[in-house]
Amino acid sequence: MSTAKSDSINSLCEGKRGVDLLNNPRLNKGTAFTAEERDGLGLRGLLPPKYIMIEEQLEIVSENYGYKKTDLDKFIYLIGLLDRNETLFYRLLVENLEELMPIVYTPTVGLACQKYSRIFRRPRGLCISLRDRGRVDELLSNWPYQDIRITVVTDGERILGLGDLGLNGMGIPVGKLNLYVAAAGIDPSKTLPVCLDVGTNNEELREDPLYLGLNQPRERGPAYDELVDEFIQTVRTRWPYCTIQFEDFGNKNAFRLLEKYRDTVPVLNDDIQGTGAVTLAGLLGALRITKQSLADQRIVFLGAGEAGIGIAEAIMTGLCEEGLTEEEAKQRFWHVDSKGLVTHARPGELEPHKLLFARNEPPVGTLGGVVENVHPTILLGVSGQPGLFNQMVVRTMSRHVERPIIFALSNPTSKAECTAEQAYSWSDGQAIFASGSPFDPVTINGRFFRPGQGNNAYIFPGVGLGVIMSGAKRITNSMFHQAAKALAKAVPDSLLKEVSVYPRQSDIKKVSVDIAVAVAREVYSLGLNGEPEPDDLEAHIQDWTWKPEYTPYV
Ligand code: NAD
Repeated sequence: MSTAKSDSINSLCEGKRGVDLLNNPRLNKGTAFTAEERDGLGLRGLLPPKYIMIEEQLEIVSENYGYKKTDLDKFIYLIGLLDRNETLFYRLLVENLEELMPIVYTPTVGLACQKYSRIFRRPRGLCISLRDRGRVDELLSNWPYQDIRITVVTDGERILGLGDLGLNGMGIPVGKLNLYVAAAGIDPSKTLPVCLDVGTNNEELREDPLYLGLNQPRERGPAYDELVDEFIQTVRTRWPYCTIQFEDFGNKNAFRLLEKYRDTVPVLNDDIQGTGAVTLAGLLGALRITKQSLADQRIVFLGAGEAGIGIAEAIMTGLCEEGLTEEEAKQRFWHVDSKGLVTHARPGELEPHKLLFARNEPPVGTLGGVVENVHPTILLGVSGQPGLFNQMVVRTMSRHVERPIIFALSNPTSKAECTAEQAYSWSDGQAIFASGSPFDPVTINGRFFRPGQGNNAYIFPGVGLGVIMSGAKRITNSMFHQAAKALAKAVPDSLLKEVSVYPRQSDIKKVSVDIAVAVAREVYSLGLNGEPEPDDLEAHIQDWTWKPEYTPYV
């Protein structure tokens, strides 16, 4: 082989040959190495002789996947594939996103987190513990890739609906970034999953001798802030344009950290802002059906946590765009939490994140009482408590509005405030319903309804892509607002006819590009970009995205 040819092969394979190449999941192609590559790269004999194409490899992995009986087995199989051959894993995920999303992300990822210490095999994210304070830069330098554009970080305090899982929360950033790759085409080598291990208050984990995280109570003092700050500042220094996504932090830290960094660093919190945008998009879709404006609505929220407040903020941005002041916008919101209506008249101190939307009116103890008084046009369930949108609540609401908009967003399905069928039947087929977890279509009195699923995966990949492409210096609520509008616009009329307010999940890739374009345009219009604006933004984004295809090495 000529020297020039061997040099070019070496650069594509990063100098790896033989077993080293097969053991590198990013470069490995397994049986899809061609005869020429096998000869040139010292692979001859290490693989069965027949060359097959990626399409045939997909057939084989799909067949093997089909043999896995439980969702956890399926998860382990997929992560095993990712550890062997990244391109093939992402190709499988991209081509079967709708089917595989519940395995690589919620709900199965929750189970995988609970079992983390038993199923850990190879590093898929960076563990940074309290003991690493002062050396975070050294840890980041150990990560094999050094052009990071997005990191998802958790401290494991509130993993999905499962609570404090400490270091076991690592599965969440890994899963979320897999969706960034599959749904938005972000190169996996530009992503970094991180779990900040600050201890756990989960007694069961601390008593488990095989738990792999720090065995101490969760740090609440200055050491916590020091570790978070060292992480953020080190990322900023190493990768100035890196987007930082906070994920599954407990309520207090989630709101506090977002406030602390949002004006100076490109940070986002999907639980707050992503949920806000995806819900607003669903509402805008619903208003396409009722032909009303957002300003005409009276909105009751069941739940005033990260989702409830995030959604209210997103709707407030939308109302302000329609010309209302923040004060006028807030008058359209009523939050109900476990103690009833959130009001300043409630005895005792309100948590800081509830203050903004607390009402100046006497307390009302129950959701039913609030619905009776307010006659809401929109009812949003983000309480994590099943069954609270009962027949009385839905019927009362339906008595006062023609098309009640009811979103039961609590996850998983068993926690939804009501089912799709209940919403449609108790409202005599008038409800416009959406949920956090999927519900099957329902037919009532011969009428077909396809409930939409307000999955955050419609929003965050596109927002991340838009922020990365424009090099946004910070991330504003208005960017999420543009994302929500782009998503609402992407719902075809045919779905609206079936009273479905979200696009099909199989269209997420296309929707993510639409969202990325809308977000990047907002970044440019605010002058917050670090990258110059290209002539053809959409083509520029499409060109930049990573595709799960093998690179020819020879
Ligand atoms: P959170 O813990 O931050 O907030 C929960 C809120 O519900 C709190 O305000 C709490 O006081 C309130 N609550 C608890 N019990 C209640 C009761 N009996 N009556 C009224 N209110 C009650 O949690 P979160 O992050 O805000 O998530 C809440 C729910 O929303 C979860 O089930 C989550 O799965 C779901 N969620 C859905 C989506 C989506 O559909 N895209 C996104 C994010 C969260």
